Amino acid sequence: MDSRSVAPVEKNQEVTVEIFGLSHDGEGVGRAEGFTLFVQGALPGETVRAKVMKVKKQYGYAKLLEIQVPSAERTEAPCPIYKQCGGCQLQHMTYEAQLVHKRQQVVDSLERIGKLQVAGFVTKKDERAGDVVDAAAVDVNVQTESNEQGSGEANVRTENNDYGSGEAGIIVHPTLGMQDPWRYRNKAQVPFGMEEGGLVGGFYAQGSHRIVDMEACLIQHEQNDDVVRQVKEIGRSLGVRAYDETSGSGLLRHVVVKYGFATGEVMVVLVTNGDRIPRVDEWIEGIRAAVPGVQSICQNVNTARTNVIFGGVTRVLWGRDVIHDTIGDVKFAISARSFYQVNPVQTEVLYGKALQYAALSGRETVIDAYCGIGTITLFLAQHAKHVYGVEIVPEAIDDARGNSLLNGITNATFAVGKAEEVIPAWKQQGIAADVVVVDPPRKGCDAVLLDTLLAMRPERIVYVSCNPATLARDLRVLADGGYIVAEVTPVDMFPHTVHVECVALLVRQD
Ligand code: SAH
Repeated sequence: MDSRSVAPVEKNQEVTVEIFGLSHDGEGVGRAEGFTLFVQGALPGETVRAKVMKVKKQYGYAKLLEIQVPSAERTEAPCPIYKQCGGCQLQHMTYEAQLVHKRQQVVDSLERIGKLQVAGFVTKKDERAGDVVDAAAVDVNVQTESNEQGSGEANVRTENNDYGSGEAGIIVHPTLGMQDPWRYRNKAQVPFGMEEGGLVGGFYAQGSHRIVDMEACLIQHEQNDDVVRQVKEIGRSLGVRAYDETSGSGLLRHVVVKYGFATGEVMVVLVTNGDRIPRVDEWIEGIRAAVPGVQSICQNVNTARTNVIFGGVTRVLWGRDVIHDTIGDVKFAISARSFYQVNPVQTEVLYGKALQYAALSGRETVIDAYCGIGTITLFLAQHAKHVYGVEIVPEAIDDARGNSLLNGITNATFAVGKAEEVIPAWKQQGIAADVVVVDPPRKGCDAVLLDTLLAMRPERIVYVSCNPATLARDLRVLADGGYIVAEVTPVDMFPHTVHVECVALLVRQD
C-alpha cells in the first residue's frame, strides 16, 4: 500500500491542530485527524489553525495560520526580527515556562533514552513534610521559587551524601535560569553581504543564504551590537565590499566581536576573503576611535568556499592577541580562535554546580576530560590536590597552560589528545582519579572513555552536558557499571533558544 494514502491529511490542507508538546527544535507538536504535525510557533495546550506543508510517513509539518486557543505560557516575542532570524526559538514562551520545558526535556531523555528512573519532584516545603510531589503537578511559580533558592535542595543531598542504592530515582532539579535573561552573549559572529544600499551585516534569513541587515540582537551584549554597528559604518565609509559566496569575490566575510564582561575588554576580528585589506590603517584608526574598550584588532583570512567562519591564518592588526575575562576568581586569556563559553553569567553558575558536585576537600586527584582552555580545570584546581586536563585541540591546551600561569596555579597538568586515549594511558601510569569531570561535545563520551572510567572507579563523576540525549545514553552505561546517577541540574546557558545544558552527579555504588 502506498504510505501516502495512509496519511489522513494532505499538503496545502488547512487543519485544526491540538498542540500537546514541544519538539527539541521548539516546534509545537500536535495532532490533526490523529496525525502528528509539527507547527513552528505553536505552544503546548494551544489549539491552532495550520496549513499542512509537508507530509511524511509518520508525521508532517504545518504552518501556523491562527491561534484559536492561546496558551497561558504565550508571550509577545520582544525581538522585531524574531521570525526572520531563527537564532532564538522560544521567545514566544514566557521565560518561566522555558525553564520548566528545559527541565522536562532532560527528564524525558533520561527516562526514554537512558531508561533511568527519575524521582518525583521534591520541593523544599514538601521535602520537610516528607511528601513527594509529581513533577507534572508542580506549577510554574513553585519552580521559579525553587530556582531562586538556587542549589538549596542539592546541598542537602550532597552534604548528606546519602543516595542510598539510587532506587529512589534521579533528582532532576529545576533549571537554574537567569535573573535577566537578555543581552547575555559575550560573542557576536556577524556575516556581511551587499545589498543595493551597500554593505549589510546581520544574519542569514531562516533557511536561506540571504543576509539581512541587523541593528540589534536582544540576546547579544549591547556593547557587541554597538561595535558591529560602528565597524559596519566604517566599512561603508571606506567603500569595503562584502564577500559574495556565489561568485567568491569581495573582501569582508564576517565580523567577530568578543567582549570580556568582567574586564570590559573588546576584541574585533575581521574575517576576510584574502590577505590584503585596502586602507587597513584607516580601518584600525576608525575602530580604535569608535570602540573605547578595544584591546585587540585581528584579521582572520578565509578564502575557502565554505560556510565555516574562520580560516587557518589569524594575525594581529593592532594591540594584543588576546582579551581577558574572569569567571569567579579565575582569569582567562581568550584568543580569536579559542572556545570560550558565550554566557559568562551562567558559566559561573554551571561551573559552580560542577564544583559543588565534585565536593572537593583539597586532597583529591581530579581529571577534567574535554577541558578546552582549562576553564573548569582551573576552577577545580583551587580546591583539589592535583587536576589533570585533557583536550584534543593543541591551541586550546596552549591557552590552558597560559591560563594556569596567569593565575599562578601550579597543580594543574594538561595533555593534548583524545580523552579516550590519554586517560587510559594515565591509568596505566598509575594516575587514579578520585573525581572525574567530563564535558564532551554534543556527541557525548566515547565508549572507550566510559569503560576506562568504570575500570578506574573514581568516587564521583561529574558529567557536564550540552545534549540531554547523549547524556542519557552515557549515564545508562555508567549506571550499569556500578554508579548511582544521583542528581541532575539543568542550567540555562542559552535563554530563548532550545539549547539545554546540564550537570549530572554520579557516585560510586559501594
Ligand atoms: N570544558 C570546556 C570545553 C567544553 S567543549 C569549557 O567549559 O570551556 C568540549 C571540548 O571537547 C572542546 O574543546 C573540544 O575540542 C573537545 N574535544 C572534542 N572531542 C574530544 C576528544 N575525543 N578528546 C578530548 N577532547 C575533545
